[in-house]
Amino acid sequence: MPILQELGPQTLRSDALPAAVPQPGAAPSQHRVLPVPPLEWTPQVERETAHLYERVRAVIPAVEWPFFAPYVKAINALKRERNAVILAHNYQTPEIYNCVADFVGDSLQLAREASKVDADIIVQCGVHFMAETSKILNPEKTVLIPDRQAGCSLAASITGDDVRLLRAKFSGVPVVAYVNTSAEVKAEVDVCCTSSNAIEVVESLGADTVIFLPDRYLAKYVAAHTKVKIISWQGACEVHERFTADELRQYRAGDPSLQIIAHPECPPDVIEEADYTGSTAGMIDWVRKHRPRRVVMVTECSMADNVQAELPEVEFVRPCNLCPHMKRITLPKILDSLVYLRDEVVIDPAIAAQARRSVERMVNLKR
Ligand code: SF4
Repeated sequence: MPILQELGPQTLRSDALPAAVPQPGAAPSQHRVLPVPPLEWTPQVERETAHLYERVRAVIPAVEWPFFAPYVKAINALKRERNAVILAHNYQTPEIYNCVADFVGDSLQLAREASKVDADIIVQCGVHFMAETSKILNPEKTVLIPDRQAGCSLAASITGDDVRLLRAKFSGVPVVAYVNTSAEVKAEVDVCCTSSNAIEVVESLGADTVIFLPDRYLAKYVAAHTKVKIISWQGACEVHERFTADELRQYRAGDPSLQIIAHPECPPDVIEEADYTGSTAGMIDWVRKHRPRRVVMVTECSMADNVQAELPEVEFVRPCNLCPHMKRITLPKILDSLVYLRDEVVIDPAIAAQARRSVERMVNLKR
């Protein structure tokens, strides 16, 4: 029986604690603005992007490629000019994931790439906490996010003050934060984790009890797979909590050979219906290895498109739950980011140094 205690902001927040250190204003960039490149669909653009279209042919209709291709060509040229790299999360759309990204992966893979990247500029195609993580690991580099409104329901569910209240209530209990948290929260915890290493990180602390935040469902998943007592928070991913066990049972009833693979941010009854549960990287590896005839990936919808582009012989059944925050990142916004160098991610150096300790402790775990 998992040992789990769950808390939320209503039970903890008060005005009694000192306010968190305020964020400074955006730092001026040292780089100049570049001219906006031409964005017409021409025979030359068609020729020069043909090899990239081959990567997405299975998921992007030919009629849509003339819109994407000029941006793809311009962004790849701007990256060279800026000495920039693009880190793209698995939930990015296929034209970003397959045609302009230098590194793709889940939060852990991107955090690791960010720690060894050799470029002046990192453009983070993902949500804001991911860009903050890249900045935390690369304080001397310019980190850009093409839309600073790209948030996350998990990251928004908890503040640094909440962590301090938890520490005061559970004195001496170590705190693990999912990477889906702000820099301010990472600065207050002992170590970070992702969905691929959450159990390993919790057990690495050698404690009987661990505070695990902010995802209540990932906390339940960890509690079910460890003897450590878990005190959790009431956050949830607005995408994964929409899946239901009922809809998965209906898919299975229609095709008993269907394989179901789920992300641990899903509710427990959804996970019970799955043949495999793992991080987005784990799910992709599972499909590469098992090559199922038909599969449901119970996670954000674009990931099925990205794996489909690589494995056209696998049929993906898509209960399409999109992350509205991830979908804020588009090719035109990435282009603007590289032309105008916006929006630059800035973190108070004291907070960044504290947060770096938590992220590096995770990144270096069993490396
Ligand atoms: S899919 Fe969920 S966890 Fe990921 S960024 Fe969107 S809201 Fe956050």
